[in-house]
Amino acid sequence: MKPTIQLPYLPKELYGVNGFNGKTPQLDGNKRILSYAKDRGYTVGVLVYTGNSNMDIYEKILSDPRVLLDRLKELIGSEMWKDTSLHFPMAPWKPDCRVHLGKEESFGFHINLLDMISDAGIKKVILHPNTVYYVPGGENSKDSKNKGFVWNQNARTESNGFLDRVLKLARRFRDIHFAYENMPIPIKGTVTLDPKEILIEPNLLTVGSIEDFLRETRDYPNISLCLDTSHYLITKGTLQNLRENPKLLDDAHIRMLIGSISPHSEELIPTKERTMEILEMVEMPSLTDFVKRNLSRITDVQISDGSGWIPSVRGFKGRKIGEGLPLTKGEGHYGDIVKAISLIKKNAEEQDAQVSLSFDVTEKDYVTRENQKRTLLEVLSKI
Ligand SMILES: [Zn+2]
Repeated sequence: MKPTIQLPYLPKELYGVNGFNGKTPQLDGNKRILSYAKDRGYTVGVLVYTGNSNMDIYEKILSDPRVLLDRLKELIGSEMWKDTSLHFPMAPWKPDCRVHLGKEESFGFHINLLDMISDAGIKKVILHPNTVYYVPGGENSKDSKNKGFVWNQNARTESNGFLDRVLKLARRFRDIHFAYENMPIPIKGTVTLDPKEILIEPNLLTVGSIEDFLRETRDYPNISLCLDTSHYLITKGTLQNLRENPKLLDDAHIRMLIGSISPHSEELIPTKERTMEILEMVEMPSLTDFVKRNLSRITDVQISDGSGWIPSVRGFKGRKIGEGLPLTKGEGHYGDIVKAISLIKKNAEEQDAQVSLSFDVTEKDYVTRENQKRTLLEVLSKI
């Protein structure tokens, strides 16, 4: 089966100060660019984002998701609606127990939202584990309302409970496909160089944790991996940067971050030697090799380039994470990404499997979507 091509859409324009004014220039831009894929024989759809907890529209969307779903169905149109997926609300920078799959409270919230999604005829949802925590003593952990969201041994146990809820949801909603997305490390490294301000996400980060997840869910045909190529390359790059600069491990928060990715780490803050051991043990092959090993479980790909984090401590100048970067021939990880996507496309065609490719490149202007257009045309000409 030929892959479905999607472009991301955050429906901000439906929530103007005076309500919805009937105009959707961003969604129109989305459809205009998707027509290039349609002309090449692909089916097309939208990847609808329901927002991030640090965005102003997050609570508006959550206050009445049914209104949004009904409106979107009408605006996107029935033909594209069939191939439209919904990205669940996410909480990377501001933890939220409603979407945090490690917390018991998240279960009712998910069921309620999934009932509405099912009624609206959406067949596929993309989810983050959202099991994010502040680092202890960090700027963000001091607030009293953040209790329960600070990384410690309890948090480690709690975040492991993520899988239980994943399996329960998949059993309850068999008509919905759940694609869980791999995560970048560290969370919030796109905006800060300070290790005290980052957040820890222990699930679906390294190849080890992603493949553990795929093993635990292998008997569930409605659970798969949404491969975010940028997140994968960020994680790979950050771990590489830390391995090459052991001086960075003098910082206790960085050692804690690395300790969090090891399921066997007993210490909250591992020693420098132990941290180096963990870094040496983590396996992060090329994207192409990762894809080869897990082809049958990848149903969704969010395509863009990415680069890792270097914190600003101990005399290091630091470098923020590069996320959602466009693909440019001969630059960044262009070759590896294109090769990985070609394999996914070929496999979908040979196995008659359904795969969606979304071009999740960050834009300055979401009406013209120049970067997404350029990346889409470049990739489609190569795969
Ligand atoms: Zn995502």
